[in-house]
Amino acid sequence: MPATKNVTSLTQQFLEQEELYGAHNYHPLPVVLSRGKGVFVWDVDDKRYYDFLSGYSAINQGHCHPRIIETFIEQAQRLTLTSRAFHNDVLGEYAEFITKFFGYDKVLPMNTGVEAVETGLKLARRWGYEVKGVPKNKAKIITCEQNFHGRTISVVSFSSDESSRKNFGPFTPGFELIPYNDIPALQAALQDSHVVGFLVEPIQGEAGVVVPDEGYLAKAAALCKEANVLFIADEIQTGLARTGKMLACDHEDVRPDILLLGKALSGGTMPVSAVLADDEIMLTIKPGDHGSTYGGNPIACKVAMTALQVLVDEKMAKNSQVLGEHFRKELIAINNEHIAIVRGKGLFNAIVIEHPDKDTAWDICMVMKQNGLLAKPTHGDRIRFAPPLLITKAQVDECIGIIKKSLDNF
Ligand code: PLP
Repeated sequence: MPATKNVTSLTQQFLEQEELYGAHNYHPLPVVLSRGKGVFVWDVDDKRYYDFLSGYSAINQGHCHPRIIETFIEQAQRLTLTSRAFHNDVLGEYAEFITKFFGYDKVLPMNTGVEAVETGLKLARRWGYEVKGVPKNKAKIITCEQNFHGRTISVVSFSSDESSRKNFGPFTPGFELIPYNDIPALQAALQDSHVVGFLVEPIQGEAGVVVPDEGYLAKAAALCKEANVLFIADEIQTGLARTGKMLACDHEDVRPDILLLGKALSGGTMPVSAVLADDEIMLTIKPGDHGSTYGGNPIACKVAMTALQVLVDEKMAKNSQVLGEHFRKELIAINNEHIAIVRGKGLFNAIVIEHPDKDTAWDICMVMKQNGLLAKPTHGDRIRFAPPLLITKAQVDECIGIIKKSLDNF
């Protein structure tokens, strides 16, 4: 591996080791992190950075939140895993806590986000056959173009991103893609009586924080209800205070029929995901029909309760809303000719870069790294800004200074 520009020899050693022995399924920024606290991370040379990715919004509560870490350690010393072959004395407490927290009858605990998505899809199909009465193997689920819901074969079966799909076929049938933020397209797709679910991100995160028109979610949910189709909200990235409300659907008072959560449900400590639904849907899955060895493990359950409580106790949704508005206003005020679009909700934002050189967004991220702020381009020309939600106004202002100074280079 040739030496990477502007990195120390210690960093270079880590990059080479990972390149040599790890699969090449990511293209990270050349920074090697070794610790984190709150909004900050430090690299192996002890250089400090603002983290503006927050583990793709898994670290809404900030790095190594003391209450979450304390809960983690305490439970890790008592009981870590029982599998679901036996009961443990935490799962029931967690199930009661999270169902009351979000207002659903039942929760099905999983680990990664994509497992929650798969679970939501299975539930929608089961419900379609056993409650709605769709003929065997005819169930159809509507999804949106430019979606990102994870990486399993079934989930990439309805991706519109070529690199997620290339040479991974054959794909799982039963999905129909429609344009995002397009009510007439949804209306048309819902004409098919075999449709059982509409899976949607309330804001498309990986696509570059694409915010739909106001009223889209409420209208889409109403149309689904009318058509007897489940509205399945993937809040894995948008949920848990990221957009200025506990759920992004809360902005439009939408209650999804199936709610998918992950990422920040553990505050960045371990993979914890959850599927929430009412009995009519959830109880179509019977013992042995679906599960996961680690899903609902005692550490995950305890950590998730603390992670949710921290969001409430530290008023992170409100902070996200207030500082998000401030951040967008300041980003617009930078008035740099290469920022074509500023968009977002709460502290979930992105800029779209317009520049003849297609690597500019990456190059800007490299300069921001030099200047002490970590962000990552998505889809080439978009840079997402999603700091931990405990960031202060003074810190936001400092970061605006870093972004401005970095953009001035181009
Ligand atoms: N759904 C959404 C909206 C996501 O943003 C992601 C990950 O970025 C996933 C699902 C998949 O989550 P995981 O990577 O934990 O499987």
